[in-house]
Amino acid sequence: MVLMDGKKLANTIQEDIAKEVLELSQRGVTPSLAVILVGNDPASQTYVNMKAKACKKVGITSILYEMPANIAQKDLLGMIENLNNNNNLDGILIQLPLPAHINTDEILESVLPHKDVDGFHTQNSGKLHSGISGFVPATPLGIMSLLRHYNIDIKGKDVVIIGASNIVGKPLSALMLNAGATVSICHIHTKDIDSYTKRADIICVAVGKKNLLTKNMVKEGVTIVDIGINRLDNGKIVGDVDFENVSPLCAFITPVPGGVGPMTIVSLLQNTLKSAKARASRISLSL
Ligand code: NAD
Repeated sequence: MVLMDGKKLANTIQEDIAKEVLELSQRGVTPSLAVILVGNDPASQTYVNMKAKACKKVGITSILYEMPANIAQKDLLGMIENLNNNNNLDGILIQLPLPAHINTDEILESVLPHKDVDGFHTQNSGKLHSGISGFVPATPLGIMSLLRHYNIDIKGKDVVIIGASNIVGKPLSALMLNAGATVSICHIHTKDIDSYTKRADIICVAVGKKNLLTKNMVKEGVTIVDIGINRLDNGKIVGDVDFENVSPLCAFITPVPGGVGPMTIVSLLQNTLKSAKARASRISLSL
């Protein structure tokens, strides 16, 4: 069994990003990301802090906008409009989930697609599903980088994704399909998930339920990507896979923590850099 070390790979990628950021900054384009945090959900605060720390490490400017939980929809939209109009800003990230009174879809649609480094705008998700270059959500992007790094073949493989959210399961299914896999997406209403997972070559689990995937559900030699994050009462973080009993059967598996999490953050940095590079080429074209 090979452990897919996302932390190590993310560190290597970060070093490359830092070099490119320095080069761009010397040309007068410092990659910049605006992060909007609404309310004071502790998990969201942790994620936002992790992203800010990673930006700082590679030289990307990140600006955090902390807004009260009771912010009105129109005020949030107005704020995004200002950020859209700021020509020195490459990315706008809205930390999810937003409070229940906010229409999240409308907020995500209000971000200019070329600043949508989270890849949640329908223009970017449409491009992804059509196999056209755009911004791809960070978690699926990071998973594909990790699989590529470990030379895991996807073409012609049976891939099962458990979890069908807009931020993980659905975009990941599009990437896998574009890479030539035969993809099944399972979710809360899927009958007999075992019948899918037992024949899968690659299983990606993104549900948020510990021990969802157990050893009797997988075949020997499977590759498993565990995306889930579950905090136990003792503070320990675990994924969705019964790691102790499933990992001996695997060819490759990601640990939690240290697998998909660091790859997600580094992919956000890659997207921000990509946006800054596009800005730099727009500037040089206009000179
Ligand atoms: P979500 O709640 O939006 O979606 C969960 C999905 O799981 C849904 O499609 C639902 O139908 C499905 N589901 C729920 N119960 C199920 C069951 N018993 N059997 C099969 N399917 C079931 O969640 P999300 O935002 O996609 O996140 C999923 C998990 O991944 C969470 O634990 C989240 O914290 C984690 N996550 C991790 C990263 C990372 O960087 N590591 C990034 C994003 C999300």
